[in-house]
Amino acid sequence: MSRQEVDQLNEIERMDKEHVFGTWSYQSEVSPTQVVGSDGMRFSDAHGNEFIDFSGQLMCSNLGHSAEKVSDAIAEQAAKGAYFAPGFTTEVRAKLGQKLAEVTPGDLTKTFFSTSGTEAIEAAIKIAKFYTGKDKVVSRYRSYHGATYGSISVTGDPRRLAAEPGIPGAIKAPDPYAYGSTLDPMESLEYIDEMLMLEGDTVAAVLVEPIVGSNGILVPPAEYLPRLKEIAHNHGALLICDEVMAGFGRTGEWFGCDIFDVEPDIMTMAKGLTGAYQPLGATIVNSEIAAHFEDNMLTHGHTYAGHPVACAAGLATIETYQEGNLIKHAGEVGEYLGERIEELAAAHPSVGDTRGVGLFRGIELTKSSEERMPFGERSDKLAKGSTVVDQVAGMAYENGAYVANMINTLIVAPPLTITPDEIDEAIAALDVALKVSD
Ligand code: PLP
Repeated sequence: MSRQEVDQLNEIERMDKEHVFGTWSYQSEVSPTQVVGSDGMRFSDAHGNEFIDFSGQLMCSNLGHSAEKVSDAIAEQAAKGAYFAPGFTTEVRAKLGQKLAEVTPGDLTKTFFSTSGTEAIEAAIKIAKFYTGKDKVVSRYRSYHGATYGSISVTGDPRRLAAEPGIPGAIKAPDPYAYGSTLDPMESLEYIDEMLMLEGDTVAAVLVEPIVGSNGILVPPAEYLPRLKEIAHNHGALLICDEVMAGFGRTGEWFGCDIFDVEPDIMTMAKGLTGAYQPLGATIVNSEIAAHFEDNMLTHGHTYAGHPVACAAGLATIETYQEGNLIKHAGEVGEYLGERIEELAAAHPSVGDTRGVGLFRGIELTKSSEERMPFGERSDKLAKGSTVVDQVAGMAYENGAYVANMINTLIVAPPLTITPDEIDEAIAALDVALKVSD
């Protein structure tokens, strides 16, 4: 790199640091790296480094970085008509609505479009409240549902603390975390049952990630979600499944709830809906809830609801999953990923637990395997400085693999198109990195 190029690069990174807020950070600790290119499973920075994307950025780049069908659809729709108000429809919006009714389970039929996961949750909460006429939402501690005021209030992890007390009526329950909680996963359900009974007939919905994502990839026992639906319905509450991270093939099924054969009353989606090629959120409801709004106003909306370019990306993304048989591929190659992660666990004493399904896996690090002693507290992510799991991820990055992490857990969620050779490459980088925590 010439002296002039280095100066230019430094200037861009300085400009960004000075004028753009970093998310979820102390701004003094933010040091943005300029990314300049991407291809398939890889992306590269302006300093000449290339990385294999083992987390699909924020567990959202499900098609990798060069899905031509999607970028072509975006360009085509932008040329045809980049934006029309939500009162108008477009071919892509109507077709995407129909497509979502087709790929989501059972009777889920009508979608409210927004632009992100957090907005999909906001819509779900409001729809549940309007439909049931009740005010409260039960969600779980180890969960993340978004950063806006409503969705952060129903989030259970420490990110909610800065926004507390949040919106009224957001109540938290324990979760199915067999490794790190004293409560057995199925016992935690009975707690929710009792809690709903004690709340009286005031709870509109129980909101869960069927497979918990950023709080550590928690997969409940097979009977958990069916029983949760039964408990919610017994108490007159709806079941909302947040599929923002688990949805769209990552688990080897279209949605996390498909693994448990459960049809929620409302489902939220984003991330894999467009493989992150465009910002798009979606909240789909069953036909009974949809019918309610025929003569009851849906008092909700956004300027960009059903944005044509985002809908074009969503439609092309789902067609790409279908045409490439990618959901099945994710399940198959996901088995191999699971085996390779087990090998890592056997070789590294600091791996306390491994969890997951398909291409949605977590590696939880621990100071002491026998005592399951975590490296830090759950709220460490809110403190200044880097945690041990940050350092492991940093070392993997230095060795060419980008892996997201959160609260003692490395989160492996690569694009659905990953091959066994690419898995081997990223596992080799993790193998080196885990020496940091051993
Ligand atoms: N729900 C879940 C399960 C998520 O993982 C996330 C983001 O990671 C959200 C909601 C919020 O989505 P967004 O960041 O698009 O607002």
